[in-house]
Amino acid sequence: MNALPMLGDRPTAATGPLLLENIPGLQREVRQLAAARGAVILAHNYQLPEIQQVADYVGDSLGLSRWAAATDAPEIIFCGVHFMAETASVLSPDKRVVIPDADAGCSLADSITPEQLREWKAAHPGAVVVMYVNTTAAVKAETDYCVTSANAVQVVSHILATHGPDTEILFGPDMFLGAYVERTLGVSLHVWDGECHVHAGIRPDDINAARAAHPDADFLIHPECGCSTPVLEYVAAGDVAADGVHLLSTGGMLAYAADQAGQVTVDGVPRRTAIVATETGMLHGLREAAPNVDFIAANEAASCRYMKMITLPKLRDALTGNGGAEVKVDADLAARARVPIERMVAIG
Ligand code: SF4
Repeated sequence: MNALPMLGDRPTAATGPLLLENIPGLQREVRQLAAARGAVILAHNYQLPEIQQVADYVGDSLGLSRWAAATDAPEIIFCGVHFMAETASVLSPDKRVVIPDADAGCSLADSITPEQLREWKAAHPGAVVVMYVNTTAAVKAETDYCVTSANAVQVVSHILATHGPDTEILFGPDMFLGAYVERTLGVSLHVWDGECHVHAGIRPDDINAARAAHPDADFLIHPECGCSTPVLEYVAAGDVAADGVHLLSTGGMLAYAADQAGQVTVDGVPRRTAIVATETGMLHGLREAAPNVDFIAANEAASCRYMKMITLPKLRDALTGNGGAEVKVDADLAARARVPIERMVAIG
């Protein structure tokens, strides 16, 4: 095994760009430091490839939180955005959760504050509050049910079935997911006017142009984050043709890749092309899992700048104690924030 680089040779979080030739050495150092601390590294699948490669587990936000709750490790280095690290802390109050860059936020989570939500609730007394998991713990603490894009329709159906068809529902903060639920169920909700900045990179015109250029390609939508939930609405509204569309969770995307990887490559030519509407970080895992599939981003510019704030030097510095920040949710707040998550999990 190679020796660790000397301190003076190290790229630090604060200095210079990370050079390609420094990546393997830094990755070795990160793994050694994590092992020495007994820490596990969790990485969201929108993280940079070199971060995903050193993680113990790569997944979507809820998968990471569940993994955090299941691990015996006392410390979790969470490579994702801040609300996700908070959710891990909410579900694992006994563990130390560290994020390599505390400024890695989320434009969607930031689009509603707890004060705004309390005002909205006061204007609609008795309404049931449904919030996407991309929210802060303080907003979750004011929420009745959390949802993901995969179960939002199911959760709202459950609320209408159990609370009555005329129940007022406050849905936020993702307006596209809210519009999709309204259209799918034929119901009217109060929908918060929030959005993720990345979605602007995945427009119907981009998608239609990519599909026209690759008419035989599969079209995969991965509505894991606010960046691609608008695509659900584009398809539901007819702005993007529904033929050949596969709506897949993170697990579904990887299952698709595993299935395709089993297919034979013909003379080195990828057997299949798939256009993917997602944040571009997801493509790394797909390409690794199925090298015989030509995965094309619906738009290469659809990149979350917050996710990309987590770099290898920052991860290393979090492990040496020279950087990063502990994310700890107050016990009372965590207890309240757990309720809507647990209700969602109980429904599906
Ligand atoms: S892609 Fe959008 S919703 Fe997801 S973490 Fe980034 S800013 Fe938030």
